[in-house]
Amino acid sequence: MSSPAKKRKRDDPASTSQRTRSIASFFQGQASKQAEKTQQPLQSVPEAPTEQTLSDKALARKLQAEWNQEDATPDTQTDDTPSSEPTTATPLNTGDDDRKPIKVRKNNILSLQSSTGTEDTVSLAVPLDQSPITFDATKYAQELKGHWATDNGDASYALLTRAFVLANATTSRIKIVDTLVNFLRVLIESDPSSVLPAVWLATNSISPPYDESELGLGGSSISKALKKIYGLNSQGLKTLYDKHGDAGDVAFEAKKRQSFTLIKPKPLRIKGVYQSLKKIAASKGSGSQETKQRIVEKLLQDARGTEESRYIVRTLVQNLRIGAVKTTMLIALARAFLYSKPEGAEFSVHPQQDMARLKKEGLSEIYSNAEEIVKASYARHPNYDDLIPCLLEAGVTEELLIRCGLQLHIPLRPMLGSITRDLSEMLTKLQGRDFSCEYKYDGQRAQVHCDAEGHVSIFSRHLENMTEKYPDLVSLVPEIRGEGVSSFILEGEVVAVDQETGELQAFQILTNRAKKNVDIGAIKVNVCLFAFDLMYLNGQPLLGRSLRERRELLRSLFVRIPNRFTWVKSLDATSADSEAVLEFFKSATDTKCEGIMVKVLDNVSKLDSDLNGAQALDTTDPSGQPSKTDDKPESKNSKGSRRKALLSTYEPDKRLESWLKVKKDYSTSSETLDLIPVAGWHGQGRKAKWWSPILLAVRNPETGSLEAVTKCMSGFTDKFYQANKEKYAEGAPTVISRPSYVEYYGEPDVWFEPQEVWEMAFADITLSPTYTAAIGLVSDERGLSLRFPRFLKVREDKSIDEATTSDYLAYLWRKQSERTKLEGEPPDQEAPLEWQEE
Ligand code: ATP
Repeated sequence: MSSPAKKRKRDDPASTSQRTRSIASFFQGQASKQAEKTQQPLQSVPEAPTEQTLSDKALARKLQAEWNQEDATPDTQTDDTPSSEPTTATPLNTGDDDRKPIKVRKNNILSLQSSTGTEDTVSLAVPLDQSPITFDATKYAQELKGHWATDNGDASYALLTRAFVLANATTSRIKIVDTLVNFLRVLIESDPSSVLPAVWLATNSISPPYDESELGLGGSSISKALKKIYGLNSQGLKTLYDKHGDAGDVAFEAKKRQSFTLIKPKPLRIKGVYQSLKKIAASKGSGSQETKQRIVEKLLQDARGTEESRYIVRTLVQNLRIGAVKTTMLIALARAFLYSKPEGAEFSVHPQQDMARLKKEGLSEIYSNAEEIVKASYARHPNYDDLIPCLLEAGVTEELLIRCGLQLHIPLRPMLGSITRDLSEMLTKLQGRDFSCEYKYDGQRAQVHCDAEGHVSIFSRHLENMTEKYPDLVSLVPEIRGEGVSSFILEGEVVAVDQETGELQAFQILTNRAKKNVDIGAIKVNVCLFAFDLMYLNGQPLLGRSLRERRELLRSLFVRIPNRFTWVKSLDATSADSEAVLEFFKSATDTKCEGIMVKVLDNVSKLDSDLNGAQALDTTDPSGQPSKTDDKPESKNSKGSRRKALLSTYEPDKRLESWLKVKKDYSTSSETLDLIPVAGWHGQGRKAKWWSPILLAVRNPETGSLEAVTKCMSGFTDKFYQANKEKYAEGAPTVISRPSYVEYYGEPDVWFEPQEVWEMAFADITLSPTYTAAIGLVSDERGLSLRFPRFLKVREDKSIDEATTSDYLAYLWRKQSERTKLEGEPPDQEAPLEWQEE
């Protein structure tokens, strides 16, 4: 019997619709309105009209003949569509009573085709999932170029769809990467101008996070388009949605059932699809909804074949589910540019035969060097609009970090802290190092950029532009910028404070501030920026300098302003100072801080310098070139005689052990999880009027599903329970029918529409026969669950896309196992729920 993990994906792409599910909450409003459970035929054929009793083919012929006749009669204007509008054609087999009149633009040649026979067989034949060392990109690029010649040489969306289908058909990360590598190689060699739009489409985005462009498509506009283009009625749409749970799968099924369609002959192009999305995002103001609607309908109408329909719709709902998240794409880009270059490009590539001759280790070394460069560039400058042109011009070289490196007003991805259970673990880890303990303030991380002209931008932890949220900080910049400072990028935590006393206020208070258009004269929530790092100064990146040096520059060149701008409170120490560190930790938690951040100050440990004299282990170029560290936390040699240096450089987008988080919740694991409440049960006894327990889930970014991880009934106040019950009241739109994208085998009394993130404490992570979270990642048969889960707070600042992932849960479990191996066996099962009562 296959395990649930194995059941997630199989190699039959057509069958994926039933297994890989995702959130398509845009249908839910509609679904809840249609509460009656009576199943009607999807595209039921009404009795009477003769036209509708004809076979599809006959009806199609009849209509085509009518239109041909109309076309032949100059005065018969059947078109009421403005010329900029897409031609709409109703599918013919529906018999749906919602059928819209057919609109045909004059002089537009329509062809009558079987909807399954319209697929691009040339693209379908490209074996993109082969190993890159055998895949003949040049041959396929030539073939496709010929195939695309009539369309200006623009790569077809069919090829991208082919890559999506193959990536979706496997759970093997290697296969997914290979598919993307080969796809990119074919594009690089055949139509390099389509690489950039393809990368945006494959990463499910249209612009970098700091650019606010959003599709802004309501669920209803997609369902409206599905109904119109595929001739579904509301009930038919609901039935398909209830069955498949994913908007793309609904489109796939609807297209499949549509046996004949009138389509425009032009196939979709990668560039065209991307441009359509940009147009959707750009249309603002009155009439924009209609414009967006027309573009969506046109995309759906032009999609050829079932898979194109599926992926166009998944793109529109921004849930592609091909497992090509950021890192996969960066890896694929790095590898693709090792093998292929555009015609006329001057950089050198590795001949495929040479790559094929290499031993596995040799190949992975070449790959990982290239990947390190591409990832480092993206971490410093996260925008494909800049990265891809550089790659097309110069390939993967160190030059990429100069051409596409740190830049003012483009946020770098922040360095992150690793978890530690408690102070003693931290002291052990950092033995022999000088470190700085800093208050871990409970606010919002802010990256402040200021150029030589004094223009300021402020970015969040997730790189959103927050300049409009904090005009008070912007106005502070001229005052804090000391003499001799022209341009800079600094980082700190913005915390709500009492302006008079400077007393720290809870994070909750900060969330009261509007996100946009904050009027500096009407600010009610006062904030102070507690600066902790300086990454760029007067045109020079400082990433490669030690924290001690960066901090010295920050503290000597900037000017503090009471209760508005200052440094994080800190204590420099070594592991010998445990008492002072404990005192400092206590003072942090007594002052509304979450705990402390502990950061290595210098690149060379005392031990290393003692042992090796002047021989430093600094692998980092002071200009900010990436170090040779990777994303994995560095391991410590327990014998302690010779240890790997913990770098004190600023490593964008890396979670290293040179920054450690020590949080105050000692009774439980020091780490907390950000989980999504997905369901509830009727409470017992005193809690009978509320939902208790509540089921929580982690997010699986690869499949798009939410995987149940624990039930919780601890940490909630009565007031919270009451508010939660009101929020998820039976009959409210927030209560939905069983969503197919939540993986859980039990039967809760009610399902919540996933929409919020709760921070949860817990004692341990355990293997579980009941919960599916991270199944397949640590065990094929069992998922992971939590022992003694306890609600801490709602993460107002996080959307469900930022909830804890199954990968991260598995990572925490492995860390915990390593630790418990030293200390004794881990608990094997989650505690029974009744033990989890408050
Ligand atoms: P992470 O940001 O590490 O992915 P998270 O969002 O769950 O995880 P926490 O674990 O609470 O956040 O801790 C990290 C955050 O703490 C930082 O992103 C930053 O916003 C905040 N912080 C507060 N004080 C400091 C400090 N002195 N140095 C670095 N970060 C700090």
